[in-house]
Amino acid sequence: MTGHSAIIGFFMFLLGAITGSFTNVLIWRLPRRESIVFPGSHCPVCGKPIKFYDNIPILSYIILGGKCRNCGTKISPRYIFVEAFMGLAFLATYLGYDVLSYIEAIRMLLVLPIFVAITFIDWEHWVIPDELTIAVAAVGIGTAPLMGGWSNIVNSLIGCALGLLTFFLVSILGKKAFRKDALGEGDIYLIAAVGLLVGWTGVLLTIFISALLGTIGGLAIMLFRKSKKKMDNISTIPFGPFIVVATIIVMAEGDKIISAYLSLFK
Ligand SMILES: [Zn+2]
Repeated sequence: MTGHSAIIGFFMFLLGAITGSFTNVLIWRLPRRESIVFPGSHCPVCGKPIKFYDNIPILSYIILGGKCRNCGTKISPRYIFVEAFMGLAFLATYLGYDVLSYIEAIRMLLVLPIFVAITFIDWEHWVIPDELTIAVAAVGIGTAPLMGGWSNIVNSLIGCALGLLTFFLVSILGKKAFRKDALGEGDIYLIAAVGLLVGWTGVLLTIFISALLGTIGGLAIMLFRKSKKKMDNISTIPFGPFIVVATIIVMAEGDKIISAYLSLFK
């Protein structure tokens, strides 16, 4: 924790909250196929443009009591949640990485808004927009040489192929066994992009952790819904959010997890 400045920490929180504001725009507009640039922010109910002073991350939501200033329509708490979460995530990234691994910190900051957008869009709309998957892939391949020389690009490409192949096989076997799609097309593309980001050992660990989290999540939701059609319910939650959470765990702690596992065999 030494060497971290409170002022930089505050600015990281601020930067995260502002990025969260943009992430909210992605979450609303991408699945509706609206431009993410034009027009500016407006109330989805009355259409009135939101003034800059009503668009301050976190604060505006509190000041306006979570309502549109013009028509009084309730605004989803998702807005303030995403802004606060992104602020804290940026702060945690700053605190979690030391100066030597600044490239890891930068790629974490780049993928966080994309991953948060994927989580909310997949959860609500059952789709992972291609733009977001491509953005993950671009960060992966773009930062691969910085993470371990040009040879690391080979690692990224193997990770991509391995992710693609594994999920493709699981989806075929899943279809045969359960007669329904266990994995969507979007999940298969996403794990390929994640492979570019975390390399071949990383993608295997990501698949393992996401399957574990998905099983726990599926069981929890089954109990919560108290449904009798248990087998049906397994596939009534999207898998994208679990891939995303697993990837963040692997990016932050993957090396430690892999070396702890390998040390069991020494
Ligand atoms: Zn309004």
